Amino acid sequence: MAEDIREACGVIGVYQPGHQVANLAYLGLYALQHRGQESAGIACSDGETFTVVKDMGLVTQVFNEQTLAPLEGHLAIGHVRYSTTGSSHWRNAQPIYRAVGEAGFAIAHNGNLTNTGELSVELGQLPGLLDTDPVHLDSTSDSELIGEMIAKHYKRELRSDGRDLETALIQVLPKLEGAFSLVLADEAHVFGVRDPHGIRPLVLGRVDGGWVLASETSALDIVGAHFIREVEPGELVAIDASGLRSIRYAEPNPKLCVFEFVYIARPDTNLYGKSVHGARQRMGQELARQAPVDADMVMPVPESGGPAAQGFAHESGIPYGDGFVKNRYVGRTFINPDQKQRGAGVRIKLNTIDANIRGKRLVVVDDSIVRGTTTRQIISLLREAGATEVHFRVSSPPYRWPCFYGLDTGKRSDLLAADMEVGEIADYLGVDSLAYLELDRLLAATGASPESFCSACFSGVYPVAVPEFDTKFVLEDGGDTLLLDDNSSTSA
Ligand code: SF4
Repeated sequence: MAEDIREACGVIGVYQPGHQVANLAYLGLYALQHRGQESAGIACSDGETFTVVKDMGLVTQVFNEQTLAPLEGHLAIGHVRYSTTGSSHWRNAQPIYRAVGEAGFAIAHNGNLTNTGELSVELGQLPGLLDTDPVHLDSTSDSELIGEMIAKHYKRELRSDGRDLETALIQVLPKLEGAFSLVLADEAHVFGVRDPHGIRPLVLGRVDGGWVLASETSALDIVGAHFIREVEPGELVAIDASGLRSIRYAEPNPKLCVFEFVYIARPDTNLYGKSVHGARQRMGQELARQAPVDADMVMPVPESGGPAAQGFAHESGIPYGDGFVKNRYVGRTFINPDQKQRGAGVRIKLNTIDANIRGKRLVVVDDSIVRGTTTRQIISLLREAGATEVHFRVSSPPYRWPCFYGLDTGKRSDLLAADMEVGEIADYLGVDSLAYLELDRLLAATGASPESFCSACFSGVYPVAVPEFDTKFVLEDGGDTLLLDDNSSTSA
């Protein structure tokens, strides 16, 4: 995808007795930076006290020797965030810490709940343990709501075996709907949770006598942990001095976000046991079979289109080449709030290699087009550099429907393909031809079962119901309705 999109979030959890784990959590977050660039944080415990350091900014902006120093202890959770529910503000940075009497816990969330209205009502009705301890949400995020729900149930338990948080989780998790991959910790335990659909990824690994939970397998590699397995949809894993316990709190109905395969996850990550890089190459191969074209060179939109362009070139026999240089010091835009500013950033980020482009018929490959503003500018840069033909190929279907499960794609009217046919989009972009990979080919290219994915942004068929209140703002014109998967779970 040429333009910047607000990604989901990334989480990490570490339990490693006898070790100081803050540096490991930091490295894990650094590996997950692509999933959220708005804020970063780590909560760490030595078994007695909890320390939380979080702030707005990239991982390397938030953490340095000084800010890592107070994070002492053998267990930690961490989070990188791009706001989905809740505004961009310090108070929404995670992990969130909740004090409960003398104890407390920290929580970090990747995803987006779809029944916050229902939960808010229930939260208001739940009595606190102490009358003097009223509910106070000091953040607008749904993650805060989960923390409050747990705190309310936690207070009611106070067990002698120390499993208060685990007991509260078993009570609260079945009430949550939507997408949630969570990591939590109290002074003695680290927990990992995936929603019953497993919409966002979460994996489990081992490191030198300890355990690591992470959004992606690439983070395990980078911290020196080895992959054990994915946390299953509908599963709660509890890690403490006695080892790992697995608790099934809901029946699984896997619907992993297929956009993780297309764009979100790092190419060196495995999802459903399949290499993301390999899947993206196969998407490019499928695209070459589905929409062949006569051309002189296949080139990617850097860097997202790289693997699919390789696959296209391999399958078509057209030479692969580079038409752009990306300024490697301009990361994904950190603060870039409106479309005008997004457009202005293109020339800073990508410059054409004119000698490779002049006089050539190009196949330009990208993984997706969401808003399209940047793609249009890229094509105009290629024309200015002397391309004689530009054939654009997209290794996923038209992105027509908004995501309610943790990817902030804005309003439906911001989506280029929302109400345009492919021919109209080609005219808007100014290309000689345009083709999008068909959904069944995309799903086949992942190598996993086609039934095990959410593909709502391409198909408009949503696996988890979204309340009308939540869709009103995003759909705007009121004429659109969301279709539900036959096996979808319902929400208020
Ligand atoms: S709607 Fe699209 S981006 Fe959102 S979870 Fe489903 S596949 Fe992923």
